[in-house]
Amino acid sequence: MSNGNTTMDKVVALCKRRGFIFQSSEIYGGIGGFWDYGPLGVELKRNIKDAWWRDMVTGHDETAQLPDAPSPYAMVGLDTTIIMHPQVWRASGHFDLFYDLFVDCKTCKGRFRADQLGTSQCPRKPSKRPGEHDDCELTEPREFNLMFKTYVGALLDPTAEAYLRPETAQGIFVNFKNVLSTSRVKVPFGIAQIGKSFRNEITPRNFIFRSREFEQMEIEFFCAPADSQAWYAYWRDRRVAWYVSLGLKSEKLQLREHGPEERAHYSCGTADIEYAFPFLPEGEFGELEGVSHRSDFDLRSHMEGKLVRDGDELVVERDEHGQPRHPGSGKDLSYFDDATQTKVVPHVIEPSAGADRTTLAFLCEAYDEDAIPDEKGVPQERVVLRLHPRIAPIKAAVFPLVKKDGQPELASEIYRTLKKRWNVFYDEKGSIGKRYRRQDESGTPYCITVDHQTTEDDTVTLRDRDTTEQTRVKIADLEGIVAERIAG
Ligand code: ATP
Repeated sequence: MSNGNTTMDKVVALCKRRGFIFQSSEIYGGIGGFWDYGPLGVELKRNIKDAWWRDMVTGHDETAQLPDAPSPYAMVGLDTTIIMHPQVWRASGHFDLFYDLFVDCKTCKGRFRADQLGTSQCPRKPSKRPGEHDDCELTEPREFNLMFKTYVGALLDPTAEAYLRPETAQGIFVNFKNVLSTSRVKVPFGIAQIGKSFRNEITPRNFIFRSREFEQMEIEFFCAPADSQAWYAYWRDRRVAWYVSLGLKSEKLQLREHGPEERAHYSCGTADIEYAFPFLPEGEFGELEGVSHRSDFDLRSHMEGKLVRDGDELVVERDEHGQPRHPGSGKDLSYFDDATQTKVVPHVIEPSAGADRTTLAFLCEAYDEDAIPDEKGVPQERVVLRLHPRIAPIKAAVFPLVKKDGQPELASEIYRTLKKRWNVFYDEKGSIGKRYRRQDESGTPYCITVDHQTTEDDTVTLRDRDTTEQTRVKIADLEGIVAERIAG
């Protein structure tokens, strides 16, 4: 059952072989940092996003006080645009600060992230780091803003410049007042959004872990300043529990609290939910999600203008004429609290997850190799994806044992019944062992086989992917049993 033998190469090979993930524009040689999701991958990623939306938003009970939550709270969703008013990014600080430092090598023309020189390879001598080869000539580190620039409208001049959003969060902040005035939410409440984000990463790498186009699942949770630390603790733990509930159960998942030196200047607390991806050296973890206590930084920025730290205070950054360097909207984004009869700018807790990194973590955790006996009892090696049934791309596969004696007709009938509810697959090609094996690799938790006995007593075999155990169940009970098992 161990998946200690998981290597990145094996996961990547499986993703290609089974149609989970392909390189974007592959027939033209691909384009760095962009990935396409194939027929199984799109289902897996969609199931992950649906589980997140269901568990965080539509399934949330706002009348109940959840364990460890300071109080009941409401949750609503949004879907905002990828291109926004350019001032959004000036006031938020992204225009000035959303950069990485890079160095160029004048000899080989390679470009590297300054903070990743220690883990990068010299293109001319991969056993060496950039700068270690005798001929290397590295430049001083320079800033590179990660936002993709584009133009809105027909004029390609600076007044038409706009950006593809590097995070979905700002679409939520600028709609804070709209949500407040059109829904019946009261602080504390959260606004959730799932959507594409774009970052022109200097060195995209490690498959879908760091790409230039990716999807985020973000919540901005608005609360009273006095309760914000308690809400921060709640969201940190709630989000870790979510990953565990969908199968990230191993010691490879960890929560790491940032020290004050690692936090952004506005943050009162940040914790990363991390996973020990197989491409990382032993003992190292990569970020899946950041949970951050952002104080009133974002709402104030969009009211007053770009903020900078001055001692203990966040103050508007001013130009040489004393004017805000990057003005905010000037709109009042405060909240009137009926209970205390006071006006406050709510504090924000932000659990910000990446759908692609989450997909990759679930794939790595689920990948396993074992040996199971074939029809003659001889052990055969197999690759199996032990995905949680809720996120598995295909929930069940239906097979006739043989292509005669009315078995395909019966199997098709079962397939059609189950298909109304789930993504179910029908297969009558090849030996039954091979059909099971294909589904094991695809992560399908259940296989249903119609055989000779089915015509006699209306039962089929239900095979469990993980144990390979087969039980006989009545066709009439099948839907209920599968539903129960998927719900876990
Ligand atoms: P990193 O330090 O790895 O660049 P980050 O701290 O900049 O990540 P955030 O800005 O906190 O990331 O974004 C929230 C989440 O969005 C991350 O936890 C990650 O899951 C996802 N994400 C960020 N950048 C990328 C990327 N280039 N490719 C895929 N997912 C990403």
